[in-house]
Amino acid sequence: MKTILLNTTPMPVNNIYCIGRSYAEHISELNNVPSDNPVVFLKPTTSLTTANQLTLPKFSNDIHHEVELVLYIGTDIDDHKIPTLDDIAGYAVGLDLTARDIQSQLKAKGHPWTLAKGFKNAAWVSPFVAGVPSVHHLSLAVNGQLRQNDSTDKLLYNFTYQLHYLHAHFGLRAGDLIFTGTPKGVGQLKTGDTLVAGLDDKRFELSVI
Ligand code: MG
Repeated sequence: MKTILLNTTPMPVNNIYCIGRSYAEHISELNNVPSDNPVVFLKPTTSLTTANQLTLPKFSNDIHHEVELVLYIGTDIDDHKIPTLDDIAGYAVGLDLTARDIQSQLKAKGHPWTLAKGFKNAAWVSPFVAGVPSVHHLSLAVNGQLRQNDSTDKLLYNFTYQLHYLHAHFGLRAGDLIFTGTPKGVGQLKTGDTLVAGLDDKRFELSVI
């Protein structure tokens, strides 16, 4: 079973939900159209990694980084209950790695994105900070160059709305992760890159091997 660290305690991971098109400037940079509701997709738990070395898949020539705030659900939420921020046990910075070339091909055919989003190591997360999220600063530097640098206050769908939407349609349970979407500045990763992911004043170093 895959686990994350909540402070220093290993915790099991259940579903991995991801929200797409959640920041206006990211929608524009990919020439996508805004959606009336959150775009939801899932990653298999086997795609999750907490290692500080990432290996990229061979089937894509264009793996992109998407830095995101990731939420950890701490409790089984009854189907008849309305979720609140207090159901969140912790939050982390994560990378929603995306095979952009494969995703473009799948989009053109109207097919699901799973291959582009669910490969091994496609869901990296830092250790989780215990507590309820508020407004957080996210950043990602690649080889010393700051590429993504934004605040979660620009989210088109705030955390409460994301919880309501996911719980209403799927049902949230203890151990679920939610990748809440990426701000502008996504770009390509290559073998040999060094990355620094930022969550407020915390920094996490990774390398692509
Ligand atoms: Mg994303």
